[in-house]
Amino acid sequence: MSTLQRLTARLSEILDQDSVITDPVRLRTYDCDGLTYHRATPGVVVLAESAEQIAAVVRLCDEYGVPFVARGSGTGLSGGALPRTDGVLIVTSRMRRILEIDIPNRRAVVEPGVTNLAITEAVRDQGHYYAPDPSSQQICSIGGNVAENSGGAHCLKYGFTVNHVVGVELVTPQGEIVELSDRDPGYDLLGAFIGSEGTLGIATKITVRLSRTPEAVTTVLAAFTGIEGGGRAVSAIIGAGIVPAAIEMMDALAIEAAEAAVHCGYPEGAGAVLVVELDGPHAEVDHQFAAVERICRETGAFEIRVAASAEERAAIWKGRKSAFAAVGRISPAYIVQDGVVPRTALPEVLAGIDRLQEEFGIRVANVFHAGDGNLHPLVLFDDAVPGQGERAETVSGRILDLCIEHGGSITGEHGVGVDKSRYMPRMFSEEDLDTMQLVRCAFDPKGLSNPGKVFPTPRLCGEVPGVRRGVHPLVESGAAEQF
Ligand SMILES: Cc1cc2nc3c(=O)[nH]c(=O)nc-3n(C[C@H](O)[C@H](O)[C@H](O)COP(=O)(O)OP(=O)(O)OC[C@H]3O[C@@H](n4cnc5c(N)ncnc54)[C@H](O)[C@@H]3O)c2cc1C
Repeated sequence: MSTLQRLTARLSEILDQDSVITDPVRLRTYDCDGLTYHRATPGVVVLAESAEQIAAVVRLCDEYGVPFVARGSGTGLSGGALPRTDGVLIVTSRMRRILEIDIPNRRAVVEPGVTNLAITEAVRDQGHYYAPDPSSQQICSIGGNVAENSGGAHCLKYGFTVNHVVGVELVTPQGEIVELSDRDPGYDLLGAFIGSEGTLGIATKITVRLSRTPEAVTTVLAAFTGIEGGGRAVSAIIGAGIVPAAIEMMDALAIEAAEAAVHCGYPEGAGAVLVVELDGPHAEVDHQFAAVERICRETGAFEIRVAASAEERAAIWKGRKSAFAAVGRISPAYIVQDGVVPRTALPEVLAGIDRLQEEFGIRVANVFHAGDGNLHPLVLFDDAVPGQGERAETVSGRILDLCIEHGGSITGEHGVGVDKSRYMPRMFSEEDLDTMQLVRCAFDPKGLSNPGKVFPTPRLCGEVPGVRRGVHPLVESGAAEQF
């Protein structure tokens, strides 16, 4: 009997039979997240219903030295929830209770499997909403959002998940239930946990900040003949001191895909569209709208539409929010890339992406959270054509190089996961990476919580016995311990 089999046999002490999946066919359901080209069939899947169950399963993993991976809705785009064939996949989708809504203090306490949009739906009637809005918000879980520090179109003005989560109850990799809060003095451990991609433990209860629904919202669609005009408009709007709730841009190929998929009716002949959303008090929104309209005209917009109703607003957003899935209409396969550049570097980086398209004969559709320089190039390829997948991979990696060269980052919001761990050394030195690993070791000395993610060559914590060249300076100085 393998170690995992022995552990699995003991799961019946903690869970009902229908909460443990060992059937090989059913296990296949969980073999990837939204990034489907990394796949592994989990050793065993646990459908947890409470923090206590998760803690008990994790304690077993600790006892047997078996790795475990948390999974929310499995919409991640960096392979973060990729399971281990030799490990336990702990799924939170049955933990969907909204435990408390406290409007006077603008807080809600939810279980990790609650979907992002469900929080807004629960408080909308009371004039509130949950601000971070990933395009996947109808299905992605709040636990996944915490793990990825997810963003969304409206994060330009309102901030990312980290700015809206004020407390987390989590199961540590040793199986203890602990709470982290933004009230805690000392080190910001809550901040360290948010965005840790499941490597520091499993969130079992999350306290989020609720925001007041703005008094007025104006959504504008501006069409340009090319992406340069859109880029100029973005810089000019921000330069004028306006921080819209969102500024999103799509290029011609992304528009073509969205039209094919959802018939969003964007202006014909547009080489780029900009979706600008302004919100706040009526007087402020009216004033900002006048400035945005003027700037868009001055920077070459040939058509400007303003949503006159909630339906028209939804129609404008439909094209943008469906963009990732929509490219499936114009290409058999694609890679969703996620990089960041300073806004001012956008034109140069886009020109670089154009050159890559020509050099490798690969098409790239561009969708961006333009206001914060977060690019989502969609690298299109036909996996039936030999070599095209590899070329697309190369283009995808070169785009990240461009982002780094221009002072940006290899991820804006989709996380590092398994997919981008190999790019981490392009951004960080060995010492930087080792120091991050020491933080991880402080939470997870045995390296059992989502191993193989984020770090390229885990050498500390005994996670994978790779070759380490020399002692880490912090260890050498006696400031930290190597396990
Ligand atoms: C069409 C589409 C559009 C998207 N748009 C956006 C976008 O606009 N912005 C954005 O930021 N992302 C976006 N994403 C990516 C994805 O939806 C987010 O990363 C989301 O937060 C993942 O949530 P999930 O519940 O699906 O997590 P999963 O995919 O299940 O897991 C993601 C990571 O979180 C960890 N994890 C899950 N639950 C827990 C937990 N309870 N405790 C600890 N770790 C946990 C997993 O181990 C894994 O590392 C998009 C994805 C798709 C498919």
